[in-house]
This record gives sequence, structure tokens and C-alpha cells, in this order.
Amino acid sequence: MADGQRPPDRTLEALLKEDRRFDPPGDFRRLAHVTDPAVHAQAEEDFLGFWASFATELDWIREWDRVLEWEPPHARWFVGGRINICANCLDRHVRGPRRNKVAIVWEGEPGERRTLTYWDLFQDVCRFASVLKSLGVRKGDRVAMYMPLIPELAIAMLACARIGAVHNVVFGGFSAESLRDRISDSGAKLLVTADGGYRRGSIIPLKRIADEAVEACPSIQSVVLVKRADLPVDMRRGRDHWWHHLMEQATPECEAEAMDAEDMLFLLYTSGTTGKPKGIVHTTAGYLVGVYATTKWVFDLRDEDVYWCTADIGWVTGHSYVVYGPLANGATVVMYEGAPDWPRRDRFWEIAERTGTTVFYTAPTAIRAFMKWGTEHPARHDLSRLRLLGTVGEPINPEAWVWYYKHIGGERCPVVDTWWQTETGQIMITPLPGITSLRPGSASRPFPGIRAEIFDDEGRAVKVGGGYLVLSRPWPAMLRNIYGDPERYVKQYWSRFSGVYFTGDGARVDEEGNFWLLGRVDDVLNVAGHRIGTMEVESALVDHPAVAEAAVVGIEHEIKGTAIAAFVTLKEKSAQPGDEAGPPSAAGQALAEQLKEHVTKKIGALARPEVIILTADLPKTRSGKIMRRLLRDIASGKALGDTTTLADPAVIETLKQKYEEAG
Ligand code: ATP
Ligand code: MG
Repeated sequence: MADGQRPPDRTLEALLKEDRRFDPPGDFRRLAHVTDPAVHAQAEEDFLGFWASFATELDWIREWDRVLEWEPPHARWFVGGRINICANCLDRHVRGPRRNKVAIVWEGEPGERRTLTYWDLFQDVCRFASVLKSLGVRKGDRVAMYMPLIPELAIAMLACARIGAVHNVVFGGFSAESLRDRISDSGAKLLVTADGGYRRGSIIPLKRIADEAVEACPSIQSVVLVKRADLPVDMRRGRDHWWHHLMEQATPECEAEAMDAEDMLFLLYTSGTTGKPKGIVHTTAGYLVGVYATTKWVFDLRDEDVYWCTADIGWVTGHSYVVYGPLANGATVVMYEGAPDWPRRDRFWEIAERTGTTVFYTAPTAIRAFMKWGTEHPARHDLSRLRLLGTVGEPINPEAWVWYYKHIGGERCPVVDTWWQTETGQIMITPLPGITSLRPGSASRPFPGIRAEIFDDEGRAVKVGGGYLVLSRPWPAMLRNIYGDPERYVKQYWSRFSGVYFTGDGARVDEEGNFWLLGRVDDVLNVAGHRIGTMEVESALVDHPAVAEAAVVGIEHEIKGTAIAAFVTLKEKSAQPGDEAGPPSAAGQALAEQLKEHVTKKIGALARPEVIILTADLPKTRSGKIMRRLLRDIASGKALGDTTTLADPAVIETLKQKYEEAG
């Protein structure tokens, strides 16, 4: 440093100041499930009692003896209890006034529509549960699913839950190799797939890909195939069966298994943003209580709501907040199979308008795409029934938050920015829409009963400031293990700080107790001795009117040691200097200079990017998260790390070229 002093001894520094504040509208506040801010303090007084009170709203076969047994790092929730999740999502509702209520409103990408009531869903789930049994699937067996976003996927999951089989859903966009690895790791006995699924107008030949994968998976004894796309398929005799044939013959009588609270419910691999995906183990009762409670309070669900979470069921968001949480709450759930820009860029808004969606939950990557495409697409539709918006998956840049609030929510709907992970199973840090004063870019506070803290390098709690985000108390839907790798479970999550769960994310907490996610700690920038999260520099870039999305990484610099490289995509209304091939144009260079200036002005010279690369696309995981580790590899000229979770390998090739041309 210029004055020879050491930089302040902080784990992560905060640079960006964001002062905007949005209070819940009066009507919303009055009618919400949670209207009293004292819920936080009350849950702190007796956090076990807090979770147990949600548990008593569910149907138990046998009540639990103890709410929690905690021998770090192993938790058991609702010990001694017996319960069935499927019965709580279906049987409980068909016995009462929700019997004929719509459970699922589904739309295929080509435009077909299906509506299933709770009764319909119940019948189909029981039938498929009988099918699974007839194919020899028993309690504890693993069942893999590789499917498009169609009701049969939810039906298959619920059927597994009904008979106590463990599901492992693999996102339908993965390659044969990724599917094979996941099936082998889980030792699945049966695979449910489809002939094909639609994506942006073309058909993904799921069965063909699955055949290639299953070739090398001796554990698979049967394959059940949904007819979705009328693709020709090879049927292997004795192994492959059509879903509709089996369902015609199956009985809808199938008792729900009395599962132990700690029996495994599912196994799911993380998105792979930071490296090789981990097979996360979730169990029964705690998971149900966690997702039931958070769905009810965070989305403020009421019986008349039409709820749409756009996540694919192949990710944890789809498990917890398309299937289990909303169905346990008896909600009407919208499902859409395809892409948001097919055939036009207003597809989501057309669906939201037609279905009368009231609660809408999506990812920042989608919001930034909407921003990039322009406001005219949502403006063509009547979105006045929306009353609540949510986001999950990445930090949301304040500009994107405000855009969402304004152009989708009509400045009327609270936006809940929910922080959580595949490992946490349930939402952990989030506004409660009836009581939280919202700050764009902040996920606000831990859900009642949850204890999140910021630790410094030595594991001391930081009261106000930046550092590592940890969870210092068990919670019901927490992961129980990494499948087949208990050592990695301990090493990955419980060793950085003893007895405390390490999230891998950096965050800052402010004077009011609001949490601001700063990005992954693996991605932290280290500039002239200052440790800076990626989020703030990116948000300063996105704050510029021409920018839609940005990703920054640290690069080696001869003089400074480390400098910042920024990869930036532009809104379509501005000129597109990033699109052309070859060395950067004069217009591109001028804009890059402007952007450097903008960052300097917003947060200081320290964060001024050394290099700005304008690009049409950023490398993302198949779940839509920016993969900074690959950008870092490009920027430092290293060989690329694991790319199997990358959505579009072409993006990375183009970027490599661009980077070299930019010198
Ligand atoms: P892997 O662990 O394999 O690298 P991943 O972390 O991307 O993959 P997920 O479990 O799908 O897999 O994602 C959880 C991560 O997403 C969080 O740790 C955090 O980095 C990010 N995240 C999710 N929601 C938010 C949010 N609201 N704000 C900031 N970051 C978020
Ligand atoms: Mg992770």
C-alpha cells in the first residue's frame, strides 16, 4: 500500500453501498401469514419448539420422541417419528376440501396443456407406486430419473416417496456420461426416462442418451419410458417398458409406507459450479418440515394462490419448491416444460397471464436475460395478479432486483431473495414478505430458527462486516451425508470451522443484521492485499445502463500482483460491440473505458478492472450459474478444469479466442 501500512485485517471487504429500501405494501402486510417481527425472537427462545410447531401441522403415522439429536456433524430430526411424505402431499388433501383443487397446471413447450387435480395426481402416484413394486423396487432401493419437465417426473418422485424408494433426479440436459456417473454412484436399480423432451424448438433424444449411459450401468434392471415426443426408440426386451402400458394395468391401491423420520428420501447432485458435483443425501421428516414451513412463510402461500417456480425439477429448487413444499401446502403449481424465449421472448409472461400466476419464483440468470431482452415483452401482458416475486441461485445484482420489482412486479410485489443450497434443502436466509423492509441485493435475515453467522479466518464471529458465511445450528432439512463418501462430508462442510457448517460462500452482515451475499469464497479477488467478493464489482458493472450481466475474476499482474478482469454482456438495446469476431472495435474499446470509469466512480479505484471483455455469453452451469473458475482459467491461460457441468461448451471457446485477441 502507498503509505506502507498493511491493509486492514479483514476476511472480506465491502465496497458497494446500496441504500434503496422497499417496505411491504399495506395490504400485503395486513393479510400475510407472518405479520409480527417478533417471530424471530420467539423462534430464538425455543428453536426446537418452533420447528415442532410446524411438524404438528402435518400427518404423522407415529409421533416423534425427540425433536433433535445432535452429535456434530450428524443430526437426527424428529427421532422415533414415522411419517410418509407422499401421504402428506396427497392423501391429506384428497380427504378434505382440496380433493378437486388443481394441483398441477402443466404446459409443454409446443403448447399442449394438462391440468391435474389433487385427486388425479393421487391416483396416478398410487398407480405408479404399484408399478415400481411390480418391477421389484423395494424400500431403500435407488431409482434414477432423467426426464423432461412433465407431470410424470413429479408423479415418479412422489411414487418413490410413497413406497420408500430413494429417488435421484438427473437434470434432462446432462450428457450420457454425466448420467452414467450419477447412476453408477447411486447404484440405481430402475431408470425412469422419456423418448424425448422439448427444448427451444428441438427435441432432446433422452432415451437414446439414456441407452448409452445405461450400457455401462449394470445396476439398472428396468427402464420405464414416458411417450412424450413420438421419437422412434429401441426397446430392450425384458428391460424397457412403456409408462402408459404399465399404468393401464396398475392398481391405484397402494398403501403409503410408514417411513422412519431419518430414512433417506432422495439423493441429488449439486450444480457443479465450483468443481465435481457432490451426491447430497436428504432424509424424510426434517426435510418435509423444513420445506413445508419455508414454502408457507416465505411465499406466503394461501389456498387461492397460483404458484409458479420456474426451476427444473432436476435441481434442488425443483425438489423443494416445485414438488414437495408447495404440494405439502396444498398449492396449485404451474409447470412449464420449455425455454423462456420459445417461440417468443414473452412466453413466461403469456403463461403467467393465462394461468393467473400470483407467486412467481425464478433465478437471477433468468432475470438478467429478461433485462437483456427488454421491457416490451412483459409489457405486452397483464401481470396484475402477481403479488409476490422470488429469486434464488446466485446473488442478485441490485439493478436486476429493481428491474424485476418494477417491470414484472409493477412496483407492487415484494421480492424475496432467498439464499440456500442443495445441501441446506430449504431456504435459509430470506425476507418474510409481510414484515421485511427489502434491500435490493440483500437476502435479508436468517429464517426464524436458523442461525447464520459471518466468521473471519480464525473462526471468530464478525458482528458487522464481511467474511465466511456459516450455519452454526442444525436445521431440519439439512443434508445428512455425501452419498457413499462420509469422509468428504466431514471434510467439505465441517472441517473449516469445527462443529459449524461451512457454506463456501462469502457474505457481509450490516448494522441492521441484513446479510449481503458476496460470492463464493473460491472466487474472492485479492487486489493489493484487499479481499473483495465478486458480487460488488459485478453489481457496479451491471449498474451501468448498457450492461446486462458481468463476471469478474482475479488475474496475475506484473506490477499490482493481482488485477481484475471483467467479462461483460450488454443489453440488446445498446450497440453490440461484444458480438463481432476479431479484435475489439473502437466502439467496444470506448465502452470498456467507460465501464472502468463507472466502477471507479461507484466503488473506488481499487476495484477498477484492468481488462474488460465484451461478450455475447458467459460460461454457465446447466442450472444457469456463472462459472467463474473457467473464466479464471481462460484469463490465466491455464487448461480448463472440469467442464462436464457447463451448459454450452462453445461459449468458452469463443471467450478464449476473444481473450487472446484482447491481449
Ligand atoms: P457446487 O456446490 O457443486 O459447486 P452449486 O453450489 O452451484 O454447485 P447449488 O447447491 O445449486 O450448487 O447452489 C447453491 C449456491 O448458489 C450457494 O452456495 C450460493 O453460492 C448460490 N446461491 C443460491 N441462492 C443465492 C442467493 N439468493 N444469493 C446468493 N447466492 C445464492
Ligand atoms: Mg455449492
